[in-house]
Amino acid sequence: MKFNTKTIHGGQQPDPAYGSVMPPIYQTSTYAQTTPGGHKGYEYSRSANPTRTALENSFASIENGEFGLAFGSGLAAIDAVIKLLEPGDEVISTNDLYGGTYRLFTSIFKKFGIKFNFIGMGNASNIENYITDNTKLIWVETPTNPMMNIIDIKTTATIAKRHNVLLAVDNTFATPYLQRPLELGADIVMHSATKYLGGHSDLVMGALIVKDKDLADRLYFIQNASGAVCGPQDSFLALRGIKTLHVRMQRHCENGRAVAEYLASHPKIENVYWPGFESHPNHDIAKEQMSDFGGMVSFTTKGNNYQQSIKIVENLKVFTLAESLGGVESLAGHPASMTHASIPKEEREKTGVVDSLIRLSVGIEDGVDLIADLKQAIG
Ligand SMILES: *Cc1c(COP(=O)(O)O)cnc(C)c1O
Repeated sequence: MKFNTKTIHGGQQPDPAYGSVMPPIYQTSTYAQTTPGGHKGYEYSRSANPTRTALENSFASIENGEFGLAFGSGLAAIDAVIKLLEPGDEVISTNDLYGGTYRLFTSIFKKFGIKFNFIGMGNASNIENYITDNTKLIWVETPTNPMMNIIDIKTTATIAKRHNVLLAVDNTFATPYLQRPLELGADIVMHSATKYLGGHSDLVMGALIVKDKDLADRLYFIQNASGAVCGPQDSFLALRGIKTLHVRMQRHCENGRAVAEYLASHPKIENVYWPGFESHPNHDIAKEQMSDFGGMVSFTTKGNNYQQSIKIVENLKVFTLAESLGGVESLAGHPASMTHASIPKEEREKTGVVDSLIRLSVGIEDGVDLIADLKQAIG
C-alpha cells in the first residue's frame, strides 16, 4: 500500500459490529467477562482500548513499522523511551532540542542517574566520539526545533548499530509523509501527535513506533505500567486527522517554501532557517532523507533586534501568536520566551536560539494571504 492510502486505511477495517467505517469511540474503562479472564482481548482501557488500538495500528502503518503505541502527550512517549534505561546508562542527544524534551531529560531523569550528553550532530560522525560502554540510546530530532538543523539518520543508525545502541528519532517536524526513520535504520520513531499527525490543534498526544517485537513488548509494558495513555475521544480525533495528513503536508510544504523565500528576500530579515535552501549546511542530507522540506521556518531580524521581533509577532493577523505547531492554521512563536524558555539562555544561544528568533508553523491557508500578513507585520 502506498503512503497516501495508508493514511486513510492503514491498520483499520470497518467495525465488525455494525460496519461503522470510522472506528467507533469505545468510551469505556472496562469490558464484561464471561468467566474470569474470558474476554475479547480487552479487559481494562489503560492496558488497551479498541479505538486506541485502531490508532496504534495506523501509527505503525504510516511509519512503516510493526507496532504503534499511543500516549497522553509527546512527552509521555519520550518518558516511556527513557524508562527503558537503568541508572548509570548514558544518552547522546541532539543539542538543539524541543525545550520540553530537554527539561524532561535534565530535570527529571538526570536525578535518577541517567547521564545526557547534548551534542551538535550536524556532522553525524561526531556522535562516535561520545559513545562509551554505558551509552544505551541516541536521541535525534530532525529537523530540529527551532533551528531546522538536519541530522543524517542513516549514518547515525549505522553508528548506533555498530555500538549496539538504540536510535530514537523524534519525527514530529517531518512526519512520515516527508521522512520515515525506521526505513533508514532507526529503532524507535517518536511523535508529538499533537502537531502534524493530529493536525488541527485540538488534542495533545504522543506516539512511538517500532519494528522489533521485543522492544515493542518492553515499551508496551512501560505504557501499561506507568499508565500515560490517551483516551478514546482523542484517539478518534487523531485517526481522523491522519486521514488527511498527506494533503495537508503537501500544502504545508508549498506554503513553507513560499514563506521561506519571501523572508529570505526581505531587507529587514537576517537569517532564514529552512532546509530547502541550497545554502542550508545539510541541504543535501535533507534532500536525500526527506521528500520535501515541510512547513516550519525560523528567522531572525537584522541586528538580532529583539524589540522588532516582538513587534512582528504582535502585528501578525493571519498567523496566531501561540505555542505549538503543525495545525492547519499558521502560528508564530518566539522560542526564547515561549517554547524554549526552559533552556538556560547561554545553552539556547549556543545553538542559535537568540532573542530575535521567530518560529513559524506555516499552515494551509492561501499562501498569498500568509505573505501579505508577513509583509504588513514586518513593515
Ligand atoms: C511538541 C513537541 C514535543 C512534545 O510533545 P507534547 O505533545 O507537547 O508533549 C516533542 N518534540 C517536538 C519536536 C515537539 O514539537
